[in-house]
Amino acid sequence: MNEPFPVSPPRAWAEIDLGALRKNLAVAREAFGGGLMAVVKAGAYGHGLEEIAKALATENIEFFGVANVGEARRISNAGVATRIYLLGATWSEEREEIVAREWTPCVSSIAEAEHFNRIAANHGKRLKVHLAVDTGMGRGGFVADHLPEKLALLERMENLEIEGIGSHLPSADEDAEFTLLQFERFHAIIRELGGAERFKWMHLSNSAGLLGFDQGPCNLSRPGLMLYGVSPLPGFQAKLVTVMTLKSRVTLVRILPAGHGISYGRQFVTTRPTRVATVGIGYGDGYPRQVSGNGADVWIRGRRLPILGRVTMDQMMVDVTAAEDVVEGDEVEIFGPNIPVAGIAAKAGTIVWEVFTGITPRVLRCYHESRVAE
Ligand SMILES: *Cc1c(COP(=O)(O)O)cnc(C)c1O
Repeated sequence: MNEPFPVSPPRAWAEIDLGALRKNLAVAREAFGGGLMAVVKAGAYGHGLEEIAKALATENIEFFGVANVGEARRISNAGVATRIYLLGATWSEEREEIVAREWTPCVSSIAEAEHFNRIAANHGKRLKVHLAVDTGMGRGGFVADHLPEKLALLERMENLEIEGIGSHLPSADEDAEFTLLQFERFHAIIRELGGAERFKWMHLSNSAGLLGFDQGPCNLSRPGLMLYGVSPLPGFQAKLVTVMTLKSRVTLVRILPAGHGISYGRQFVTTRPTRVATVGIGYGDGYPRQVSGNGADVWIRGRRLPILGRVTMDQMMVDVTAAEDVVEGDEVEIFGPNIPVAGIAAKAGTIVWEVFTGITPRVLRCYHESRVAE
């Protein structure tokens, strides 16, 4: 059956530069010569799980790091052969599939390991697992006491191979002193467990840990955010390139008289005749409503122009008095190379990770190869 009307183009879309993604991966490699686990949890930080995994699958990455079995399944089903590592704890109902599909879990308890061991025995397999240790994150892993005894127990499980050891940094972008202490603790734990020869993979760093610190005994890192072009440590931002540019279009341009309220709550009232562009994106697309009134800008026709009043679900208003050439249909950069997403996150009182992962399914993701010179 034919559609009676042409399908309209999207009001909001995200242009995703796969060449820029690879360039940021190269920056990670340059910072650290060890192996890489590309963290692609939460739909590759909103960039599209399958597309990002496919784009990185040929880049000699050791693992893709995912949050859960659902994400692991999506990558596997996309035909990606790179090994998959589960960053968080698993539920018992999920373990059969983990063993069958040879994904790599980290284990945080003897009970969890025993269960994996039993399932692996039933499958006639030896499952590779990583020992998770808690050096300060407080979210998962074995607490770091009596570890040699615990490792001895794990090593007696014949259908498990303790392939690696990992821990996580809670404040590598906020507290260098504590982070250095964690590297020392992790190193001490590895020595206590018999030294680096005991593990194929040793990993501690997220993006901030990778960019800002000497990797000590580690031979694998787990960058996420930096691959998507944002450094958690501002000093390294210039090395990275923008991957996602969020865009929309002007749907309407009008002149409102002085004294006219704009948007819900009428928190903004014009003080002069104002040329106002209505733009087809809002918090229903994941643009953070919390920026309202905090001086966030968008980019139209080469100019930075301020948002007026509250961001609504599907639309927001922009002052284009200073940009007489702006007309209906013009493309608007919501964030990207000209409007850094970090600034938007700061104005919304949140972090870039949350802004990226908050972009909703309504926003069409469009992929292209690089505009960045290699
Ligand atoms: C999310 C996550 C990462 C990646 O962190 P970034 O700060 O985005 O680089 C690394 N390791 C673990 C365990 C994570 O949960």
